[in-house]
Amino acid sequence: MDPVINHVTVAQLGAFDGKPVVVRSHSPASLVRALAEVRAETGGAPGADPTRIRWVQILSPEADVAPLVEWDSAAPIDIILSAPAEQYTELHKFATLRDRHPIRVTISVVHGFKKAVLVAAALQFSIKLDIGQPDAGLVDELLEVVDLYLHRTTVGEPIEFFHSALLSFFHEEPDSLWRIQEDDPAVFRYVADEADTRQLRRTIGNASADPSAFVDDLGREILAAGGECVACEFAPMCRGYFKVPDRGYDCAGVRRIFGELATAATQLSADLEVQAEAQERSDAP
Ligand code: SF4
Repeated sequence: MDPVINHVTVAQLGAFDGKPVVVRSHSPASLVRALAEVRAETGGAPGADPTRIRWVQILSPEADVAPLVEWDSAAPIDIILSAPAEQYTELHKFATLRDRHPIRVTISVVHGFKKAVLVAAALQFSIKLDIGQPDAGLVDELLEVVDLYLHRTTVGEPIEFFHSALLSFFHEEPDSLWRIQEDDPAVFRYVADEADTRQLRRTIGNASADPSAFVDDLGREILAAGGECVACEFAPMCRGYFKVPDRGYDCAGVRRIFGELATAATQLSADLEVQAEAQERSDAP
């Protein structure tokens, strides 16, 4: 079973001693200070227990990055862009951290988000798209990003959820979109604070008594109600992800996105088969 990863603020960190965490803060200085204090209290050496800190999340990309530059850690850094059309220019200053830290940019899918995708990809940061229930304009922008991801040779790092979905279609082993997006409470427990409940938008009000059964319970409930998910070919991976919070959301657009990725996986499979056959012929005596 996957370990539970608690998603906490700096102030909550002490209550999760020794457990895998994502630590979030608007202030890199507070993050670095809090993690240094925890390390001092537990007697850990620099770099000790690297698996405990799964990500440090910077909620305000406008903040000064100097404390991160001076930080003696290689912890993965996740930069949150909640207003990407305005904040994308902030990404350049994080490039100095790339040699020591894996860097991901989590980009809210709001109008104009593609600019941030282009900059993050150019800086060789991996990308996670934080996606709600996109309207028609956003679906068009998402399809442009799918095209970038599939066809631009300059995009070398994964763009999630496209990357895992493509692999999942290619291997014909449905992954869970809830897990790819780090929204499955069986694995990712978001410990809310008053200031930030954004990440609870898919789970709040739909809470199952048992977080480990949340996605299964919700899937059963959505299927029992009938509707679009019942006959959706992408249900094994999506499991109703796009039907919350608004159950009446029309998935025609997101199904086009899944469809593009599924077609690309089929094409990739066919290309590899042709290549293997050609190789066999050239190896034949
Ligand atoms: S894409 Fe929409 S219809 Fe298909 S399984 Fe997901 S939420 Fe249901």
